[in-house]
Amino acid sequence: MEFTRRDFAKIAGMGLASQMVPGLHAAESGAKVGYAVIGLGQIAGHFMPGVRDSSNSQITALVSGHRDKAERIAAQYGIPASSIYGYEEFDRIAENKNVQAVYVALPNSMHAEYTIRAAKAGKHVLCEKPMAISVRDCEQMIAACKQASVKLMIAYRCHYEPTNLRAVELIRSGEVGQVQVIESAFGFNAQAGQWRLSKALAGGGPLFDVGIYALNACRYLTGEEPKEIAAYASVIDRDGRFNEVEENVTWTMRFPSGIVSSCSTTYGAPMAGYFRVHGSKGWLEVDEAFSYEGLHLRGKLSGADLDEPNTARDPSHFQAEAEHFSHCIQNGLDPKSPGEEGLRDMRYITQIYKSAGISI
Ligand code: NDP
Repeated sequence: MEFTRRDFAKIAGMGLASQMVPGLHAAESGAKVGYAVIGLGQIAGHFMPGVRDSSNSQITALVSGHRDKAERIAAQYGIPASSIYGYEEFDRIAENKNVQAVYVALPNSMHAEYTIRAAKAGKHVLCEKPMAISVRDCEQMIAACKQASVKLMIAYRCHYEPTNLRAVELIRSGEVGQVQVIESAFGFNAQAGQWRLSKALAGGGPLFDVGIYALNACRYLTGEEPKEIAAYASVIDRDGRFNEVEENVTWTMRFPSGIVSSCSTTYGAPMAGYFRVHGSKGWLEVDEAFSYEGLHLRGKLSGADLDEPNTARDPSHFQAEAEHFSHCIQNGLDPKSPGEEGLRDMRYITQIYKSAGISI
């Protein structure tokens, strides 16, 4: 991933401008982009209000295995019963003119199938991270979207989030000096009985789910791709939760410039997401960096203290990400976090697992 200064200005401009100037994109192109949300779980519950707050997007259809839940949500968003689909009948969405795009908010292993089916139905795809559970799946998703001439964006919301972008800007502008070392982590204590602990549905453990934030952050902060990766994984809690997926992973990466990073993820402890960047002119950290709100940038650069709390509230990240994708759809642009970005992370995740001795 290359975040040049020009890119930064472009991304920041799109995300921030759309938040600061309501109606900007709507005024640009008129009608709103209609989304079908696939999988009405936790993250869909953040995305839908984000879309409602947006200037250029709206929820126009729902896809769910639970009709009652879908009907309740449909009533909130003014969606007609004819635009509620079950998974088996999903392909009928091709006929729904009010749907231009889908938002794939399903367990990880289902992302590939629904992205490919949506592309075949002629719909643009905003797919949650991790993009899929294998490199092959990611490649097939990209190929299907190319073949159908629809856009594919992976929902890396931090790419559209002002505090993360501010950290990138401080690094790119030279204010941190030569970056030497980055530390990053993200994890939580996973409850038993959820799909995240099933290898078939999740692909793997916390690395796929939340470690990916630390991995991706090291890439956008450095603007480089890791050349070497070494990793360890472990299971400490023998309580049945980790029969199929790992509990802890820690990995190091060396980038072409010589920057080294050290990252961790866990399903066994509450581990707030953060990154800390150490450069020749000082340090900066965003802690928390990956939550839906409460992000806080601190540091000391050339002797001056940096203290920039972000007061934006959830669902602002989801609003910005939806506005970006809709803007791309309406204006024939490529999203800043396309399928190829998800594929790159998938390749590094595969390397991390390999180094840690885990087969996926
Ligand atoms: P949830 O379990 O809360 O929701 C997933 C939904 O998928 C379910 O509610 C269900 O919807 C549907 N579903 C269909 N088949 C299954 C199945 N076999 N097992 C379980 N659910 C199924 O998960 P999340 O919303 O937390 O995660 C969904 C995706 O979003 C994941 O890929 C995750 O990595 C990603 N995510 C991204 C975040 C971000 O910040 N960008 C944060 C959290 C998650 P229904 O009942 O309507 O059929």
